[in-house]
Amino acid sequence: MSDDVHIVCPACGGTNRVPAGRDARQAKCGRCGAALFTGQPAAADAARFDKQVTRSDVPVVVDFWADWCGPCHAMAPIYEQVAHELEPRFRFLKLDTEAEPAIAGRYNIRGIPTLMVFRHGKVLAQRAGVQDRNSLKAWLMPYGS
Ligand code: ZN
Repeated sequence: MSDDVHIVCPACGGTNRVPAGRDARQAKCGRCGAALFTGQPAAADAARFDKQVTRSDVPVVVDFWADWCGPCHAMAPIYEQVAHELEPRFRFLKLDTEAEPAIAGRYNIRGIPTLMVFRHGKVLAQRAGVQDRNSLKAWLMPYGS
């Protein structure tokens, strides 16, 4: 039985194995040297999105947003705050739906902001609309690693 946890680097997309007992916030990527957790949501293009969502053992939260979307901008600081509080139990990503329409289309995203939680490629949960910090945290908690 392996006690390693697979963590995907937010900078290069490389998969790292971190021993389960170790604080992943202190870990650095074996490939590019970047911190595996920065305390901030990571911007994801399609390739990084796919690597994070399929290879990470840590649940991946994705904020589907766009620059023209006012509520998305209202949501952003709340999302950042919650990312800071809940890493490394989750990976937090932001996906720009205008830059990556194929990903938004794959998950049938209609209204934004939409938040989705993934683990090992499967959608665990989905929610649309702006949320406050407490309700966002309460919603995510059951999925945390
Ligand atoms: Zn890396």
